[in-house]
Amino acid sequence: MAVVALVISLWSNIRLPVFGRNQSAQHYAFGLLFGLGAIGAMLIPFQLNPGFFIDLRMTLIGTAAFIGGPIAGLVTAGITTVFRLYLGGAGVLIGLVGIALACAAGLLGYRLKSAEAPDLKESLLFSLVMAICAMAPAFIIALAQDIYSGPQIRLPYMTLVFVATLMACLALGNEIRRRETEARNHMYRHVIDSLPEALNVKDRDGRFIMANPATAQLMQAENANALIGKTDFDFYCQEVATAFRSDEEKALKAEIPIVEEQMLARMDGSKTYLSTLKAPFTDVDGNIIGLITHSRDTTDKKLLEAALAQSDRRAAEALSSISDGLVMFDKDLTLVFCNERYRSMFSVTADLRVPGTPAAAILYASIARGEFVGIPQEQVTQWVDTALSRLRQGGTVQFPLADGRWIESRTRPTPEGACFVICSDITASKQHQLELQNMNDRLSVLAETDSLTGLLNRRAFDAVMADELARVERGDSSLSLLMIDVDYFKRFNDTYGHGAGDSCLKSVADCLRATARRTDDRAARYGGEELALILPDTDEKAAVVLAEEFCERLRDLRIPHTGSDKGIVTVSIGVATLARGSLPTDAARLIARADEALYTAKRDGRDGVRLWEPSRPRIVHSDGGRT
Ligand code: GH3
Ligand code: MG
Ligand code: MG
Repeated sequence: MAVVALVISLWSNIRLPVFGRNQSAQHYAFGLLFGLGAIGAMLIPFQLNPGFFIDLRMTLIGTAAFIGGPIAGLVTAGITTVFRLYLGGAGVLIGLVGIALACAAGLLGYRLKSAEAPDLKESLLFSLVMAICAMAPAFIIALAQDIYSGPQIRLPYMTLVFVATLMACLALGNEIRRRETEARNHMYRHVIDSLPEALNVKDRDGRFIMANPATAQLMQAENANALIGKTDFDFYCQEVATAFRSDEEKALKAEIPIVEEQMLARMDGSKTYLSTLKAPFTDVDGNIIGLITHSRDTTDKKLLEAALAQSDRRAAEALSSISDGLVMFDKDLTLVFCNERYRSMFSVTADLRVPGTPAAAILYASIARGEFVGIPQEQVTQWVDTALSRLRQGGTVQFPLADGRWIESRTRPTPEGACFVICSDITASKQHQLELQNMNDRLSVLAETDSLTGLLNRRAFDAVMADELARVERGDSSLSLLMIDVDYFKRFNDTYGHGAGDSCLKSVADCLRATARRTDDRAARYGGEELALILPDTDEKAAVVLAEEFCERLRDLRIPHTGSDKGIVTVSIGVATLARGSLPTDAARLIARADEALYTAKRDGRDGVRLWEPSRPRIVHSDGGRT
């Protein structure tokens, strides 16, 4: 028993380096120790009856296998076997059977037990098995039956083995559990020490019982041990320590964990913000004996929050002071942000232009309330769909509001699928643009108009001629040209003065305009008192009819002209026509032909119309039969 106790004591207390990390080395060492123990037990046997010696090698072998596993068990059994063989004698066979049985029972138990450290039940059962095993050779070997005969031997021997094994199992089990606890404690300690956040335990009076290095760092103490037994009052100023203590008292009173946001003002003026959990610390009986405190430094977070809030404020100020309306829609086209300018820009629907309203609802409301104009009832849905798809795709659009303002909206989609819209009031620039447009239109009319007669000027006449000749060239149409010259106009000026001459020219021009009523007919002042009329899609016959009609109308005006033998203002007209499909020609040639015909009309007595013909111009009209 003493040997068994000694072996267990040695194993519990001596930690050789070999017992360190290597698991199988541990098992070999375990087996070696128990093997030596078994030899020791065999060297000092105990005489139970005269001539009958017993020892507790069975206990050591069985326990080594049961607790230490196959390696430890076999090493112990091996050493014992070798030594038993060395001893020799009559009992060798019995001894070897016993060793083998103890080892086998131990290994079986090792397989069957639930944890490394056996519990009481397992220990009792195994001790019983070992006690039975001690007697087993008697039943296996005939020779042994004589030796083990008699209860005076069996009972004490079995009892001895049972007690010794049970004692060994319980002691080893406890030692294993102690080592497990020690390992766990080591791990917890390691975790706590390497925690970057302060973790500590204080008693009810606020004295540190345990603290990790992070706590020491936070409290600017030399190390964690320097805190033990001290309170916050030893490290912080009175004000801070009192505030912290009152938080602790609150947690002790509440008896449940509480979280506090704490501010730690240091002597040097710096501030540290802490998010602190205080949980009651209880003893095994559930009595609160202190507080566990876990503090996280939230200074960086707090500073970041403050910076963020400030930049938010600045951004909001900047956005509200700019002259453009800003609005942002998320990927579902729901308004998420807008500035005041945007809301005042669309004052009719300002109540809807707030975060949370879908863009579609805003657009429909704007139409329904008459904020947007010019959208026909039946096209409202399509219009809204187009506007929504523009929000998704981006782009710039200008639109008028009912109150006369013009808005330009520039939409930019964001990579996240949302969109950002900038709305500008462009009413002033739009008005300027319209005025400029009107002015340009007027200028271009002026540039093409003869100021006296209001007919096309020579430049415009040339341009129209070029266009119309191109059409003829394409084979699209025919083209007629009338060259008109006021008869004896020099004399008119001489008789009535230049001003009257101008008025007369105006009257002739008005008369020409009244005669050429088709929109495509273009009357022009060719030069001096010579006018021209371009008649697209007009054949020679129709052109001559129109020319005669003009002569007639002018005669009907009966503008006095004493210088003329007719007594009134008359004109002579030369007509030239390019029929549909005729060979290409240029403006100069057509004008020359009409001029030629006009010359003929003059020569033939004036106040008449002559049509140009390839051979020679022929007379198609005479003035009332006098020519
Ligand atoms: P004819 O019957 O052969 O055409 O005789 P005419 O006197 O009309 O011919 P001529 O070409 O010799 O004279 C044209 C006159 O028209 C000369 C010019 O004083 C006058 N004239 C040309 N342009 C204007 C104008 O803008 N205003 C006025 N008042 N007279 C003009
Ligand atoms: Mg003339
Ligand atoms: Mg003339």
